[in-house]
Amino acid sequence: MIVDTHCHLDDHRYDEDLETVLQRAREKGVKRFIIPGADPRTLERAVEIAQKHEDVYFAVGVHPYDMEHYDREYLESFVDHPKCVAIGECGLDYYRLPEDPSEAEAEKVRQKEVFVDQIEWAKALKKPLIVHIREASADSLALLEEHAGEEGGVLHCYNADATLLKLAKRNFYYGIGGVLTFKNARKLVNVFPQIPQEKLLIETDAPYLTPHPFRGKRNEPAYCTYVAEKMCELSGLSREQMETLTTTNVQRLFSI
Ligand SMILES: [Zn+2]
Repeated sequence: MIVDTHCHLDDHRYDEDLETVLQRAREKGVKRFIIPGADPRTLERAVEIAQKHEDVYFAVGVHPYDMEHYDREYLESFVDHPKCVAIGECGLDYYRLPEDPSEAEAEKVRQKEVFVDQIEWAKALKKPLIVHIREASADSLALLEEHAGEEGGVLHCYNADATLLKLAKRNFYYGIGGVLTFKNARKLVNVFPQIPQEKLLIETDAPYLTPHPFRGKRNEPAYCTYVAEKMCELSGLSREQMETLTTTNVQRLFSI
């Protein structure tokens, strides 16, 4: 079986057909789903989905794009839920910083505060982190090295920055998604063999980052199979070996 360790099923793009989306995934062998907490405004929806479906789990956190909605007290009311498996998706994203240099600096400072708060929170709860890093590898690495607990977590891997591989020793895993299948994904394809196999996870980031050959369309967990195929091609593992490997990794990290 495959676990989609990162799919935003609480996104409004699944409002109409979530049941069908889940069913299509299960038929393809994708049997567990983790909804990262990105935007607190849809967290209740994530919990509702996880309560309804035995195979769906969720995490609690705030994505850097939604950090104006960061309210630790509100989020705290969700972490004791039995289906809450992690803190995140939190992290740093310098891709869309304001043009004005002082505004950009202030934005970075604020992002770092919110990120550190969530790292420390995960450490106190002894939960793993789900981390988003985009064009912010050096700062993210420094903050995680300084603050992260033994539980570690998972990094979204689309930046494919080899410097982040250092975090494997701190119990961080690497979530591989649709980017690996892109024709121009040379960077990730090159980094991929350097990732320790016992730290590989599969994710879609659905509804975003749809793998080839559906790039540009809405992504969904069933497409994990395209990611898995590409991972097999690059690693030489059979599909069965890849599924066993990544599912064992999921169980070790998220205890599910
Ligand atoms: Zn995400």
